[in-house]
Amino acid sequence: MKILVAVKPVVDPNVKIRVKPDGAGVETAGLKLSMNPFDEIAVEEAVRLKEKGSAGEIVAVSIGAAACLESLRFALAIGADRAIHVKCDEEAQPLAVAKILARIVADEAPGLVLLGKQAIDDDCNQTGQMLAGLLDWPQGTFASKIEPTAEGIEVTREIDGGLETLALTLPAVVTADLRLNTPRYASLPNIMKAKKKPLATTTPAELGVDMAPRLVTLKVEEPARREAGVIVANVAALIEKLRNEAKVL
Ligand code: AMP
Repeated sequence: MKILVAVKPVVDPNVKIRVKPDGAGVETAGLKLSMNPFDEIAVEEAVRLKEKGSAGEIVAVSIGAAACLESLRFALAIGADRAIHVKCDEEAQPLAVAKILARIVADEAPGLVLLGKQAIDDDCNQTGQMLAGLLDWPQGTFASKIEPTAEGIEVTREIDGGLETLALTLPAVVTADLRLNTPRYASLPNIMKAKKKPLATTTPAELGVDMAPRLVTLKVEEPARREAGVIVANVAALIEKLRNEAKVL
């Protein structure tokens, strides 16, 4: 079974981001980018399925500007066999990404497409679901466990108040949640070997996908600052504050 994994470069989660003065978005210029954390988990899962003998080739795909190359090389260093860069400088919104992935699926015929449950920059949580809709394939979102079975795969999902296990036939789309696995580090020898793995380049135009944005960001704001805490002298003072200041009693 071939696995296609979608990886997106995002501003590194350890970098403190700032909202642009005009509220049009967040500043990204000059910031360190790294692979979306949920996509790292998706790549790790693909590699584990391959190591178990449940998967053959792993193909990593990234859609966007040159920063995608670093994420693709990282995926290759972790264990993907080959990469596809869909080069575009315009913003790649979820529907356009899903259409591009659907086109690549038509060419590559994977048995499983793995994505992150959400990209931590736009927080859309849409691409996997849209891709499954476009392909009319079964989907298992927010996967915390993937188990190959004789008929396909079982996907355990974290839902409110418990776990839900779905049996999916293949081909299918699965999106990775945080507890699916702990991604490995890319070793230096594997980073060197990754440089020799095949990396193809294409464009949305070559794939016949229109990148016109469907979503318009109206305004981005910093969250309200939290007020500093105070240490109260005793329980009576605490109750007084809860009753008269916080008004929660
Ligand atoms: P989103 O729907 O934007 O929250 O993204 C969900 C998942 O779709 C991500 O975790 C990635 O696996 C995939 N994805 C989104 N945008 C891209 C992109 N530009 N290139 C590759 N994969 C992407």
